[in-house]
Amino acid sequence: MADDKKSQKHKTAMEKQKVSVDSSIEAASLERGVSILLTGNGKGKSSSAFGMVIRSLGYGYKVGIIQFIKGEQLSGEEIFIREQHPEIDFYQMGTGFTWDTQDRSGDIAAAEKTWVEASRMLQDKSLHLVILDELTYMLAYDYLDEAMIIDAIKNRPSEQSVVVTGRGGGSAIREVCDTVSEVQDKKHAFAAGVKARKGVDF
Ligand code: ATP
Ligand code: MG
Repeated sequence: MADDKKSQKHKTAMEKQKVSVDSSIEAASLERGVSILLTGNGKGKSSSAFGMVIRSLGYGYKVGIIQFIKGEQLSGEEIFIREQHPEIDFYQMGTGFTWDTQDRSGDIAAAEKTWVEASRMLQDKSLHLVILDELTYMLAYDYLDEAMIIDAIKNRPSEQSVVVTGRGGGSAIREVCDTVSEVQDKKHAFAAGVKARKGVDF
């Protein structure tokens, strides 16, 4: 190819690229809350959500937190909130893991009661961030209506961000969320016989 022709081709390609880059920059200048799904089998979903809680609190923003599954073990985040940050809007479903309770109708009643709180938070403009920890299990077990959850996430205040955590959860929630991260389980200390660690795992 002659040099002139090569230069012209390069120029056309660069012009095209510039249009694409400029439009991405323009799109990224949108100011609004985001919806985030943290899923997958690896460790790091809930702890990442609580990392965002700390970030928000650092700027003096209000945060709402719902925990859809509460383990038997008290967690560091629960102690931190209850003892040091009672101003945080915090609600726990209060039933243990489903394989402990083995009571489907009781679980559904608890899930529905918890959803009332979640739905309230998802309409509260004063909340900068809402965490729906382990919500995906409510979908996986069909305890809560998927369309109702998707609707609430879609129609939340535009400045509010929401973080959903938990394994699985189905495709609808993946589709509706702006950011979806899947934490992959490469290895976990527990599998090598190391006990869950205070301040690290709970
Ligand atoms: P974390 O709260 O530590 O961020 P997570 O939210 O990603 O974990 P969950 O499925 O909610 O993971 O499980 C919570 C607990 O189970 C934590 O104590 C965590 O260390 C442990 N855990 C997470 N993933 C694994 C795994 N792949 N194998 C064994 N234990 C795990
Ligand atoms: Mg978790």
